[in-house]
Parts: sequence; C-alpha cells; structure tokens
Amino acid sequence: MEMLTIGAFARASRLSPKALRLYDELELLRPARVDPETGYRYYAPEQLEQARLVAWLRRLGMPLADIREVRALEPAAAAREIRAFWARIESETATRRDLAAFLVDHLSRTVPAVQTVPTVPTAPRKDTTMLELRYSALSDTGLVRPANQDTAYAGTRVLAVADGFGSGGAPASSAAVEALKFLDHEPLPAGGVLNLLEDAVQGATQAVQEVAGSTAETGTTLTAMVWTGSQLALVHIGDSRAYLLRDGDLFQITHDHTMVQSMLDEGRLTPEEATTHPQRTLLLKALLGNEPSPVPDLRLHDALAGDRYLLCSDGLSAVVSENTIKETLTAAPAPAEAVRALVASANDSGSPDNVSCVVADLVNTEAQ
Ligand code: MG
Repeated sequence: MEMLTIGAFARASRLSPKALRLYDELELLRPARVDPETGYRYYAPEQLEQARLVAWLRRLGMPLADIREVRALEPAAAAREIRAFWARIESETATRRDLAAFLVDHLSRTVPAVQTVPTVPTAPRKDTTMLELRYSALSDTGLVRPANQDTAYAGTRVLAVADGFGSGGAPASSAAVEALKFLDHEPLPAGGVLNLLEDAVQGATQAVQEVAGSTAETGTTLTAMVWTGSQLALVHIGDSRAYLLRDGDLFQITHDHTMVQSMLDEGRLTPEEATTHPQRTLLLKALLGNEPSPVPDLRLHDALAGDRYLLCSDGLSAVVSENTIKETLTAAPAPAEAVRALVASANDSGSPDNVSCVVADLVNTEAQ
C-alpha cells in the first residue's frame, strides 16, 4: 500500500505536521517509515484512525503513557480503558467537589464575627439548642483474630472508630483516637469548625506517626465525628463507616477508600464480585506511620432530635447486612443496647475480624 508523506497524512488526518512530529517525539504515533537519507516521515493509510484517536485522547486530557497503551489495544479493550480513566477523573473530581461543597456549606452557615449593621441578637435555633449526645462504644476481638487492633470511643463530643493494621496496628488505632479526646475536655479551638477538623486530622496523623514510626505497613483507618453543639463534623479516612438512621431510613454517609470500592465506581466490578474479591480489604487511603496524611473526607451534619449515628469498623459492615444493621439500630432502645446487639450480630456471622461500633443519639433534653 502506498505510503503518505507527512503533508498528505496531515491533511487526511486533519492534524498539523507539527502535531504529527510532536506525536512522534512523544512516541504516541510513530511514522511507518523514516527515510534514512532525508529523514522524511512516511505514514501508512491505516494509521489515520490511530492519529485521530490520539488527537481525541489528548483533548480528553489523558496522560501520555495511558494514550500509548490505549492506542495499542483492540477497540473493546481500549473502550474499557477509556471508561476506567474517566471514572478515575470523576472520582478525583468528586473528592474536590465534596471539599468545595463542604466549604460552601460551612461558609454559608457562618455568621460574620463583626457585623457592620447593628442587629438584635437572634435567639439560638430552637431545634438544636437543647440537643445532647447519648452514646455508647464497644469493641470486640471477634472469633478469629488473636488480638484486637480496633479502637472505639465515645465521649461528650467525640465519637471515633479506628481500625489498625500491620504489626503496630493496635497502638496506631489507639493513638489516632487518643489524639481526639482532648476535644471532650477542652473548649473547642478558636476559629470554628475548620480549625477543629484540621486539628483533629493533624493530631491523629502525628500521633500515628509517633507510634508507628517507619514500621512498614502499619497504620489505621479513622472515622470520627465531633459534636459542636449544633452540628456533627465528620472526618473520614479508610474503610470504617458512618451511618445515619433518620426517620426510619439508614444512610451510609461515608465512602470506603478501598481498591474494591474504586473498581465498583469505575464499573470494573459488580457488587456481587466485590463481596468475594481477594483484595477487598486493600485500602487506598489510611493514616500511615511513614507517609503524609491523605486528604480526608469532611462532612458537616445538622443535628436533628431523634437522629441515631453509627460508626463501625469493617468487622461489622463486611459480615452484617445493611438491612440487619438498620433493623438492629431501629429496635435498640438506647445506644448501649444497640452496640451490644450489633457486635452480637457480627459474632453470629463468625466475626472473622475485630468488630467495633459506636452508637450516638441526638436527644432533645428539653423534652426529657
Ligand atoms: Mg477491620
């Protein structure tokens, strides 16, 4: 078949010769032949489709290494890779979108410290003023593991579950939670909830680094909520979970930072496959001894009387169905009964892992 000069190929592919030379240098599209004498590039007509594909993938923002890979694949495999690439972009954007939403949400609620127009002080909101947390925490070794590396804690302001892993897993999870406990006893830090969350994440990260040091593969998850008096601020890293039971419905309010969850998000796995995937516990984010802390998920929840929150390690959520969790939470009259019943459910299912639960109710103390 007749070769095309770079000029003819450029016209046919609607790309400039300059772009084609760049693609050659970047190894995205090599000419079929380069004349050893003149250095002229020649292209085969069947390369037209590839040239166009490379141009579109560049416009999509795909990294060069990925383009090289996709270009070499059969159409069906290339389609899968493009779908997975885009899912990764969406998930990264989602993390930033959530952070942006959190900041917008927070700033929209913030009353300016100095008001230029004199105003009559507004009465605190009736629905949240007299709310108080009632809570209980329970952590259990389970039926298989030799030791408990989970830590569960509930106090007047702090609710936390941490699931340690690696040789120093137990001290790591304990240190992460210990680092938050001061919020129970001391006034909340000046600067409001943003500083509070920063302090919480920094404190926990530093504490984990101190106990885990450079011990390889040692770290912990952390899912914690801090009660500000009207809101619950959530910090979440890893695959422990937070749920909200409100008006009889159960909502999972955290997203697992696991390999399997991201494969589910990318459409590479079905939910059925995910439950038996060999790497289902592989974490994408955690507090680690020897690495800077990843960006945690942050959320603010307005408190409503009657809300019941559950924080748990994967030792519960991996073996007890969401429906059973919902029924158990709904049936238990108080947090202490709820955590006992949930741990018992996990043990009924064989409890292959440590299991930890924190349950907290928002109670209207005026109505008591
Ligand atoms: Mg676990």
